[in-house]
Amino acid sequence: MESRPVRVLVDMDGVLADFEAGLLRGFRCRFPEEPHVPLEQRRGFLAREQYRALRPDLADKVASVYEAPGFFLDLDPIPGAVEAMREMNDMQDTEVFICTTPILKYHHCVGEKYRWVERHLGPQFVERIILTRDKTMVLGDLLIDDKDTIRGLEQVPRWEHILFTCCHNQHLALPPTRRRLLSWSDSWRDIIDSKRGAARQERDL
Ligand SMILES: [Mg+2]
Repeated sequence: MESRPVRVLVDMDGVLADFEAGLLRGFRCRFPEEPHVPLEQRRGFLAREQYRALRPDLADKVASVYEAPGFFLDLDPIPGAVEAMREMNDMQDTEVFICTTPILKYHHCVGEKYRWVERHLGPQFVERIILTRDKTMVLGDLLIDDKDTIRGLEQVPRWEHILFTCCHNQHLALPPTRRRLLSWSDSWRDIIDSKRGAARQERDL
C-alpha cells in the first residue's frame, strides 16, 4: 500500500550541534575567574537563566559567549548526528528538514548556522533549513528537539515532539505518552518507522 513520506524535523542546537559543550568551553575560556555550571549540573533549557541564578551579572556574560562571532560556526557536531542525518535522508519515504530557532541577536548566528550545515552535512541540507521562532506552525510527523516544552500559536502541533536528551533535560520525568531519544545511538529508526502506519491511516481517512 502506498503512503505519504514521513516528514522529520530535526532541531539544530543540542541535537545536531553541541551548543552546551561549546558554551561551557567558551565561557571558561573567556571568563576563567568566574564560577561556571558544569554540564552535569545544567538544569533548564536556558543556560542564561541558570547563570543568572548563580549570580545576576553572569547572565550577560554567558550570553556574550553565544552572541560572539564564530560561536555557532565552531560548535562540534553531536556524536552520531551527521551519520544519522545522512542515513535518514537516504531512507525511502522519509523527508528530513532542519528546524531551528536563531537567537534574537541574530547577526552572526543565522549565517553561521547555514555555514555549519554546509560544512558538516553538505549543500543538500542547506536547502532543508527552516528558520522559525514558532515550530508549532511547521508541518511534520516528528520534531526531534532538546527543548522540553515547545509552545507557539498552534495549540496542537501536527508533529510528535521527541525529546532529545541533553544535559539540561536529562533529569526531567516525562509523562508516559512522551518519547525520548537518548542519543543518536538510540532507536531513531524505530521512531520514524512508528510513524509510517500513521501517515498511511491519515491518507486513508
Ligand atoms: Mg535545541
